[in-house]
Amino acid sequence: MIDKPIITRFAPSPTGYLHLGHAYSALFAARAAEEAGGRFLLRIEDVDPVRCKLEFIDAIYEDLRWLVLSWEEPVRMQSQHLADYQTALDVLRGKGLLYPCFCTRREVMAESAAACHAPHGPDGPVYAGTCRGLSASERQERLARGDIHVWRLDMAQALAVAGTSCWHDRVRGEIATQPEDFGDIMLARKDVPTSYHLSVTVDDHLQGATLVTRGDDLFRSTDIHRLLQALLGYGTPEYHHHPLLKDETGKRFAKRDKAMTLRALRLAGRTPMEIKGIIGIG
Ligand code: GLU
Repeated sequence: MIDKPIITRFAPSPTGYLHLGHAYSALFAARAAEEAGGRFLLRIEDVDPVRCKLEFIDAIYEDLRWLVLSWEEPVRMQSQHLADYQTALDVLRGKGLLYPCFCTRREVMAESAAACHAPHGPDGPVYAGTCRGLSASERQERLARGDIHVWRLDMAQALAVAGTSCWHDRVRGEIATQPEDFGDIMLARKDVPTSYHLSVTVDDHLQGATLVTRGDDLFRSTDIHRLLQALLGYGTPEYHHHPLLKDETGKRFAKRDKAMTLRALRLAGRTPMEIKGIIGIG
């Protein structure tokens, strides 16, 4: 059997300036590709028009170049590929696995809090499933009326179609999935016609990623991505979730820690070599 070439990617969301944690993640992915003589891709996860800003996209390029990173062109900008996510949604809808949910955010929180079991999943409150019970005519009527809605995955149906599955993490080995812990996740909204889970799964497939490296905070999300891969007929890459970089108090870096952004460190006179020394990756 011929091994597939290693293709890794770094996929930041331009919702703030990159910090030390991002530098670690980007260098980690680039190094994994380099060590295997593979390819390193960059993807800008900019589907949320409210949270994503052009200035942060420019800053991502500038900061990564400053770290002496290079990637293959063209960079995939998620906002320019909404049709790809639509196609995937249509496939899932065609299999009867999506339903429109008309609950407001406030209603979702209240319903979840009132549910007597497992109100919290890895992504936050688990949707109680209220709109799953609407009749086909009620759905049609409300859609035709233009009621605001999101599209949710019917998790029980999805699992019935896909069955159980597993994925492989380079550190933790074979992982049996438990996507049911997330409940009926939202896959698309009106203002953002996709979601993190859907676009990441579609993009990793279309970009041919064979090794997905990312922080441990997204470890459980992989269960969802594995389920979507099975439903959409995609192959499954290998995964390597790395520990999150923490500050000296043990707190993980966040975009709001302005002093730890690569930009601030650069302005304070730090060199790329020093940054690599601090995060322990070069
Ligand atoms: N865009 C995500 C983030 O910035 C990362 C997505 C991924 O690597 O799967 O947290």
